[in-house]
Amino acid sequence: MILDNALRLQYLEAMGIDVWVPRTSAQKKQPLPADVSTDNAEPEATTVSTTDNWDALQAEVTNCTKCSLCATRTQTVFGSGNKNADWMLVGEAPGQHEDEQGLPFVGNAGLLLTEMLRAIGLSREEVFITNILKCRPPNNRDPKADEVESCNDYLQRQQKLIQPKIILAVGRIAAQTLLKTDEPLARLRGKVHTFNNTPVVVVYHPAYLLRSLPEKRKAWLDLQLAMHTVKDSEG
Ligand code: URA
Repeated sequence: MILDNALRLQYLEAMGIDVWVPRTSAQKKQPLPADVSTDNAEPEATTVSTTDNWDALQAEVTNCTKCSLCATRTQTVFGSGNKNADWMLVGEAPGQHEDEQGLPFVGNAGLLLTEMLRAIGLSREEVFITNILKCRPPNNRDPKADEVESCNDYLQRQQKLIQPKIILAVGRIAAQTLLKTDEPLARLRGKVHTFNNTPVVVVYHPAYLLRSLPEKRKAWLDLQLAMHTVKDSEG
């Protein structure tokens, strides 16, 4: 469903979500053809030259039984967006709405994430959004170590196929898992880290920002850091 702008603002306001307004015309690469990949969509051919391929990866995730979450999930949540994206966003794990719809970040936090992207001139279709875990943990509990370990290969393969210019680690769990650290998010944000030689910038989880709106300013600074990092990588 496409909401017109006024309706979208009303909708966000009614939910108490502040609207992010772009303060700069962020550099925006020409959008590649939208290539939305979800568990509900037919996988499409990719131009990435590699021995791995999206079809095989998506089928493996869809049928995965590597950990006990396969018994409680409604469906896997592979990720969605542009398979040639410059920006790869990695969250923690699907929640209830994501588990029901098979898509990442579709609840209230997802709406705010969409607004955060819009503020830096990006649409959801231009970036690739996925999670550390491809299945919902019961009652949205934190991921367990064996679940992270089971899913690790899928995330690594997604990153190799996409070859993004930047990874945004969305929230503490994603950041600590990607960066293999127990450091608190407050110490991880504001710096450029790396994951498999790709720059990583850590941002507050939109679910946290919905509860702590004063932190939005820091989130904005983190997004700017990410934008500058991409720009620098382009020379
Ligand atoms: N929170 C996450 O970290 N990921 C989602 O997909 C939804 C909510």
